[in-house]
Amino acid sequence: MTGANSRDRELRERAEAVIPGGMYGHQSVALLPDDYPQFFARGEGAHLWDVDGRRYLDLMCAYGPNLFGYANPEIDAAYVRQLGLGDTLTGPTPLMVELAEALVGMVGHADWAMFCKNGTDATSMALVVARAHTRRKTVVRAKGAYHGAAAWCTPRPAGVVDSDRAHQLFCDYNDVASLEAAVAQAGDDLACIFAAPFRHDAFVDQADPDPAYARRARELCDATGALLVVDEVRAGFRLTRDVSWSRIGVQPDLSSWGKCLANGHALSALLGGDKARAAAASVYVTGSFWYEAAPMAAALETLRLIRETDYLERITALGARLRDGLAERAAAAGFGFRQTGPATMPLFLFDEDPDLRKGFCFASEMLARGVYVHPWHNMFLCAAMTEADIEAALDAAEGAFGALKRQAGGLPPVDKLAFLSAGAR
Ligand code: PMP
Repeated sequence: MTGANSRDRELRERAEAVIPGGMYGHQSVALLPDDYPQFFARGEGAHLWDVDGRRYLDLMCAYGPNLFGYANPEIDAAYVRQLGLGDTLTGPTPLMVELAEALVGMVGHADWAMFCKNGTDATSMALVVARAHTRRKTVVRAKGAYHGAAAWCTPRPAGVVDSDRAHQLFCDYNDVASLEAAVAQAGDDLACIFAAPFRHDAFVDQADPDPAYARRARELCDATGALLVVDEVRAGFRLTRDVSWSRIGVQPDLSSWGKCLANGHALSALLGGDKARAAAASVYVTGSFWYEAAPMAAALETLRLIRETDYLERITALGARLRDGLAERAAAAGFGFRQTGPATMPLFLFDEDPDLRKGFCFASEMLARGVYVHPWHNMFLCAAMTEADIEAALDAAEGAFGALKRQAGGLPPVDKLAFLSAGAR
């Protein structure tokens, strides 16, 4: 094969033969514009290189794990040093205790930590701990909120049976009345309320948590003896250095963490307060790789950078600059362009774009100009980004809005997302 993305195409063809569907999960490009690369050769700092050698400023940050830059020298040195000493051993290393102490010292509500690998491990463990603590079954959570890909929470129905989804009731995020109704329906069987730190669902505008909703969730848990769980897997350490709802004065009983905890190395965690300690000690949860020492060394270094640097202030300022600059350029080009969510985790949607054809075109035009954006999922800023990177993204956006304007009348429909027009949105 020849052409600008021939290596990627060749790998996709080979993948079709040996990987079901060619790719699976959130990193499949099946729901992205056709020109998006599936395979990458390397990442460094804020940039990615695809297998055909093209370099991108990466506004996805690996869907969150990249907080301090790909191949961060300090974090990866700690990781490699520990690899030389031992990683998966017959028992954990002292790093596990140090890491639990570090997290308990940083996250206000936490008195203990348990470690696992993926966000889904941590959210599923939260559910098990809440059920063990209350000896009840029902979880209340918001419709459309993602908490992982285990049978109890995967957004796709294939392979899931009704009993996997039993004992769950749904409310609308930020809607106190619907939260109260779901809790009332749970009656005396409420084990926990699950909450995202803000509404970060795909395909729709993001929303800050309404403090009244967060406070009501806390009160309802206190009144019923259920546990409040905040799922920090995606937003953790991009809003604050503590659990996100501490900013609005609400402390959960449990919080699940993952993604950026070890800056891309495999580690997630469940943190909890003393109230849930006995239940957490009672459940049997484990995994062959959950005690790996090298990701814990990386996490200790990541947490040190979180505590000792101004990364959060910098990415917040960069996110604000990006947002303001994009708003100016979108307005100049005459587009209704909605940027929602925190500045460090933006999501872009165009007005009057039900099948996202404008969003897909804009994303493709950004990609062609060296900036990897996502047309329907929130993005992430990282501390390796610079003001020059943001200026480059804004220059790319000026070109992309212009190109979109020229094509706007004749954009092809996006058939990959037909399920959106079918009312799933
Ligand atoms: N919770 C939230 C809020 C998430 O965003 C994710 C992953 N996108 C998960 C849980 C599951 O994490 P993982 O993919 O690491 O299992």
